[in-house]
Amino acid sequence: MTLRNAARALLTMLLVTLTLVGTQTTAGAAPTPTPTPTQATVLTYDASGSAELTDAVHSGAAVWNESVTSVRLEPAAPGADANITIVADDGWPRALTTSLGNGIVWMGRQAVDDGYDTIRIAAHELGHILGLPDIKPGPCSSLMSGSTGGVDCANRYPDAAERADVEAAFS
Ligand SMILES: [Zn+2]
Repeated sequence: MTLRNAARALLTMLLVTLTLVGTQTTAGAAPTPTPTPTQATVLTYDASGSAELTDAVHSGAAVWNESVTSVRLEPAAPGADANITIVADDGWPRALTTSLGNGIVWMGRQAVDDGYDTIRIAAHELGHILGLPDIKPGPCSSLMSGSTGGVDCANRYPDAAERADVEAAFS
């Protein structure tokens, strides 16, 4: 091996080493992997009895899907058993929670006719199915304040405490 070849070999080794160091530096600078998300509990709902309030029911479910990650509300396949049955009737809106995540919601037209926000009604009653009690009287910023938030209250979203309670219940 001539001196020139030896120098060239040394240079090649140095370049390889630098390349490896560079690779390691890049790997080290890569963002840490995000934790594997825990699987959300999926609850199905049957809104086939919700009549003219069906859109409000879907919007109320979407409110929860936007607000929490530990549970998701999805329409049940036609004819399939659902966790939650939602119907429209002429009474006051109410919910019967048979167990956490299961029960019946009545989208009472009495409150709809009085002028209460239909999506807030749906989100509120679904809140009961998700384990939340009424918080009455309460401000409009609270979803579970229900009608005490005022007839003009159009807030459809749970507040931070309400979101945290649902997250905890399904985690
Ligand atoms: Zn209520």
